[in-house]
Amino acid sequence: MSQQCAFISQLSCKEEQRWLDKLNAKLSNAKVILAREMSQEEKQACKIAVVANPNPEAFAEFPQLIWIQSLWAGVERLVEELNEPSFAISRLVDPMLANTMSEAVLAWTLYLHREMPKYIAQQKLAHWQQLDYRRASERTVGILGLGELGLCSVKTLVNNGFNVCGWSNTEKFIDGVDCFFGKSGLEQLISQTDILVCLLPLTLETKELINMVFLEKMKKGASIINFARGAIINHKDLVEQLNRRHIEHAVLDVFEREPLTEDSELWRNPYISILPHISAPTHLDSASDIVSQRIDDVILNGVLPECIDLVKGY
Ligand code: NAP
Repeated sequence: MSQQCAFISQLSCKEEQRWLDKLNAKLSNAKVILAREMSQEEKQACKIAVVANPNPEAFAEFPQLIWIQSLWAGVERLVEELNEPSFAISRLVDPMLANTMSEAVLAWTLYLHREMPKYIAQQKLAHWQQLDYRRASERTVGILGLGELGLCSVKTLVNNGFNVCGWSNTEKFIDGVDCFFGKSGLEQLISQTDILVCLLPLTLETKELINMVFLEKMKKGASIINFARGAIINHKDLVEQLNRRHIEHAVLDVFEREPLTEDSELWRNPYISILPHISAPTHLDSASDIVSQRIDDVILNGVLPECIDLVKGY
């Protein structure tokens, strides 16, 4: 008999059904069932759960869980809300997602590199002015975070002629890319970056990392792209540095509270481009391939995939 896995989420019923259909079509040794449709005995015996924005209290009904798989790449909410969980947690690691993110990083880096915010502003004033052209190789893009998404974005930017440097927790070696790590490495990256791309997880260490002190150290005229999590930037400090014209422009895809409320001043700041958290959405097809394969592996081989380190927070 196939093993039952719980699906614990706060998604809409329609979205939940799409995930169940995809996962169950691919699973050979298990069946994923909505948690609310499981009996008390089934919940008591359940060892594996697939989760998407779960209510943390829901886990109390599943005392035998050994492993949960998130459908999202960022798991800061789980880390924060689950107090010393007795089960391991995996996040989504999907090469397709990394490609999608690197496409977004390239698109918005080109937007800044080819001065689109300035030409949009000129058009509003019917002002015809050709700005000086800089080659991509004369523009340094600094990537914060050299994980699944950061590494793929680095390759795409290098292939498109940009001068790229990166920053991570631990030391990395990437051909043709200056890699920095730790606190001292951050200063080196900041001092040479023209376009900063944030692809860090939100942790206790990275919360409000990009604050007034950080922004003051950036080159005058540098720009920022945040595709990671809103709380990594102190938005009040960012707005101040944009309005002072120390920072040229910011592309923001993520916010502490989403959707961004209508009354937020960020919408109306001419130096900010707002995106509604679209840089790298989870792909139903590729993510369900990965998640179903992992569930089958755990059941057949008893070996858990890579899990997050709760102390580091990612
Ligand atoms: P990942 O593989 O875990 O990589 C994280 C990177 O950040 C690693 O290189 C890590 O360094 C580095 N890092 C973490 N804490 C650090 C610190 N305190 N100082 C310096 N470096 C630090 O994560 P990922 O898959 O690339 O995803 C990154 C984030 O993107 C996710 O957490 C999520 O929030 C966000 N995301 C956003 C979207 C969107 O649509 N906007 C979509 C997917 C994901 P080490 O390599 O040394 O450990």
